[in-house]
Amino acid sequence: MVLQPQLKIFISRDEIAKAIDRLAREIKRDYQGKQPLLVGVLKGSFMFMADLIRQLDLRLELDFVRLSSYGATRESSGRVRVVQGVKTPVKSRDVLVVEDIVDTGSTISFLLDYLRKKEPASLKVCTLTDKPSRRRIPVPIDYRGFTVPNKFIVGYGLDLNQRFRNLPDIYTMED
Ligand code: 5GP
Ligand code: MG
Repeated sequence: MVLQPQLKIFISRDEIAKAIDRLAREIKRDYQGKQPLLVGVLKGSFMFMADLIRQLDLRLELDFVRLSSYGATRESSGRVRVVQGVKTPVKSRDVLVVEDIVDTGSTISFLLDYLRKKEPASLKVCTLTDKPSRRRIPVPIDYRGFTVPNKFIVGYGLDLNQRFRNLPDIYTMED
């Protein structure tokens, strides 16, 4: 694979796999006997979702939402809207949001408000990575893979201008 010289490996595929094993154990323990609805945030969470649910021996259902956030830059505009909402009824379901990264918190807090209005039985958040140093809106995170410093990361679903989503590891972008 042709990589840019400024890409530096940051979280390897093995570390990702170990973190997913741990998250899956936590989720299985908490949702035993339930039928959770996992809601992934497109596009970034697709790879994490695919690996996570293969470790979840639960009677789960999947849905995805598409939100507008970053646009073509690295900075969140802070303005979020729903481009594609959930198709599955959410009322009285145990909903688990699956995200690639929580940065300022605007995207996830908007999504939680949107889902809360649909009256789920419970609503929790699972994120592969968390960048707490940039948080502007406090958000509860129930399952966290990695806490990352204030660096822009790509790979494993995360993009820069739609590139690098296919990389199996997570890289930092050095300017
Ligand atoms: P927030 O609304 O929390 O500021 O941003 C959430 C969204 O911004 C993420 O779902 C992701 O699309 C994007 N984002 C934030 N930080 C990064 C990063 O380090 N790398 C990439 N590729 N996207 C990021
Ligand atoms: Mg995202």
